[in-house]
Amino acid sequence: MKIMFYSTKPYDKLWFEPMAKDYGFEIHFVEMKCDAETVLLADGYDAICIFVNDYVNAAMIEKLYQMKVKGILLRCAGFNNVDIKAAEGKLHVLRVPSYSPESVAEFAMALLLTVNRYTHRAYARTRDFNMNINGFMGTDLHRKTAGVVGTGRIGQSMIRILKGFQMNILAYDPYPNPKLDVNYVSLEELMKQSDIISLHCPLTEETKHVVNEKTIGLMKKGVYLVNTSRGGLIDTEALIDGLLEKKFAGVGLDVYEEEEGVFYEDRSNEIIKDENLVRLASFPNVIITSHMGFFTKEAMQAIAQVTMENAYALESGKELANEVTPEKG
Ligand code: NAD
Repeated sequence: MKIMFYSTKPYDKLWFEPMAKDYGFEIHFVEMKCDAETVLLADGYDAICIFVNDYVNAAMIEKLYQMKVKGILLRCAGFNNVDIKAAEGKLHVLRVPSYSPESVAEFAMALLLTVNRYTHRAYARTRDFNMNINGFMGTDLHRKTAGVVGTGRIGQSMIRILKGFQMNILAYDPYPNPKLDVNYVSLEELMKQSDIISLHCPLTEETKHVVNEKTIGLMKKGVYLVNTSRGGLIDTEALIDGLLEKKFAGVGLDVYEEEEGVFYEDRSNEIIKDENLVRLASFPNVIITSHMGFFTKEAMQAIAQVTMENAYALESGKELANEVTPEKG
């Protein structure tokens, strides 16, 4: 099995290289992202391995098919970046459906606690021996109402964490889980009643801009919003308007609508042209991180392991348990 591995970072090699050796796979690591040009590098390979900001559209799938590439190995859970319909009957698309839901949920809680209690800014002040705490007053989470949008693996882990803070939990999911001890309500009710809203649903046509001018209008003044799922769930301009109107006490974003090409890269010496990103970063009550909710040792090990198992199943004609098809999607 020969795999062309796109968007490589040093930490990818650390986990994938030794595992690939165990399986006898040959991986060619490139730093470039997968796009219409670089996809041509996959000629002569059996599969490509891509990450969250590598897009594979219908034209690229056709190219891969012509080059006899058999599969797309997504080393992530989300698959909104691949045209699944176009791949049907041409290439197998395999993902890592679950690696460590706790990694993302714990990070969502970290974002909430940070933006609520200003620990990031307090750290910066005390390093400069400025021990003034003005402007850092937060809110107790205890007994507040948290709204969880999407009660899959990560949403459930988040609910367990929120319950540890003795919060009342409201949840919205078009496929409610009867085994969960939560109060399912409509999306509208969740938006209206929650003190904290955390997004844990996938990005689909239905969920795109689920946080928009209208839903922000429903939210309580002083609400906290956390997004560790996909940037496209939030209409950025509506969020900025809401922030300017002081609707939000705090916003934690691990993902951003236009993150492609910026997140995971060092752009510190460049002029940032994305005015919305610059605007968001300028708010004292917004914290932005670079799509790193998944980034724990446990998650990285599981991602590499499951990706290699997916490659093995593809190579040996075994059942493709983690295949994404239009129906499963
Ligand atoms: P999952 O498939 O286990 O759960 C998703 C849940 O969302 C399901 O219960 C589903 O019914 C629900 N859902 C579907 N449509 C919905 C809608 N319209 N409104 C509300 N809920 C809806 O997925 P998961 O493992 O919990 O992951 C959730 C998302 O987290 C992924 O899709 C991915 O985008 C994101 N993610 C982010 C990171 C990160 O590093 N920040 C890492 C992994 C996953």
